[in-house]
Amino acid sequence: MKKRLFTPGPTPVPENVMLSMAAPIIHHRNPEFVEILAQVHEDLQYLFRTTQPVVVMTCSGTGGMESAISSLFGPGDKVVTVNAGKFGERWGTLVRTFTGNCVETMVPWGEAISPERIVEVLREHPDARGVCLTHSETSTGTSADIQSLCAAIREASDALILVDGITAIGAHEFRFDEWGADICITGSQKGLMMPPGLALIAVSERAKDIIEGRKGHPQFYLSLKKALKSHAANDTPFTPAVTLIIGLAEALRMLREEGIENVWARHARLAAACRKGCEALGMKLFSSSPSFAVTPVWLPEGVDWKQFNKTLKADNGITVAAGQDDFAGRIFRISHLGYYDELDMLAVIGGLEFTLKSMGVPFEIGAGVTAVQKAFLEG
Ligand SMILES: *Cc1c(COP(=O)(O)O)cnc(C)c1O
Repeated sequence: MKKRLFTPGPTPVPENVMLSMAAPIIHHRNPEFVEILAQVHEDLQYLFRTTQPVVVMTCSGTGGMESAISSLFGPGDKVVTVNAGKFGERWGTLVRTFTGNCVETMVPWGEAISPERIVEVLREHPDARGVCLTHSETSTGTSADIQSLCAAIREASDALILVDGITAIGAHEFRFDEWGADICITGSQKGLMMPPGLALIAVSERAKDIIEGRKGHPQFYLSLKKALKSHAANDTPFTPAVTLIIGLAEALRMLREEGIENVWARHARLAAACRKGCEALGMKLFSSSPSFAVTPVWLPEGVDWKQFNKTLKADNGITVAAGQDDFAGRIFRISHLGYYDELDMLAVIGGLEFTLKSMGVPFEIGAGVTAVQKAFLEG
């Protein structure tokens, strides 16, 4: 049976990217590798829409988040975070760990923070040094309007803007320079169509000045100061994941060939069709501001998550993601982030139909698949 992964990280890896990583290892100080890293640096700037450095770190996305917090802030620094799900919560945990002074703004799961609300928080906390946002909150499949949020924050305060773009980069329009973000992070195993293991971090001029001016704080491997210094020479401070960087070069080449605007449009199209397919099967959508990376759906009444998940895997070869925390066993999440196309959406909705039918859920067979096809045909 063919196995199909519909999880928002890890995501499927294209064959040519896998093949590029099967070549014999090369040394990271070898000019051949320096050239590859230089190309990766340039293509990452294209991806993030920036002329600022985007550094490659050998760690998962969370390592990138920790690197940003620990490189920019120290004990006592007040930082505002938005907790609208698991990953916004993680920003808060990191801030508490490194500064002990976190202003955590709670937002109900499935909703996004509004610019008005963040400005209100900043008015109450004019001494905030930073604001941490999540562009696409993967746990709730919800996207925030980062462009408006950045504009509102910039107008209201001098706080640095840190964006967790881990499932947004490559799925949602994002313009680092134009929108005025200071940090944006993604991970290799999300929209970049790669295995896990790399964090990519864009750093603004303003953030770079602060990082370079800081001294004597407890930080080593995840230091952005070290990473930025090496970046300027197309180098890395420590042995990088050479093989992954070679794969990343190929993945970025594919994204650039498709064109970033087309990549964003493809994700919007697949997400819209996925939502239509789910609704046509009588299922309710979870998010009021749906992400283009992942679609969270309420499990139909009476359907047991464990049995549903087991059947979907065993009979249809499909892996979807579970709900988290309060929503475990109540919602599930279908990813369309990265290496997916129209026929993949027909496959996942078709598989859902087989599984739900076998569990006695009432709907007309083919209704979901037809809705997906119509969504694509009608644009
Ligand atoms: C996956 C994810 C992370 C964590 O990344 P890891 O690579 O698992 O460390 C952080 N934020 C968001 C929004 C994510 O989707």
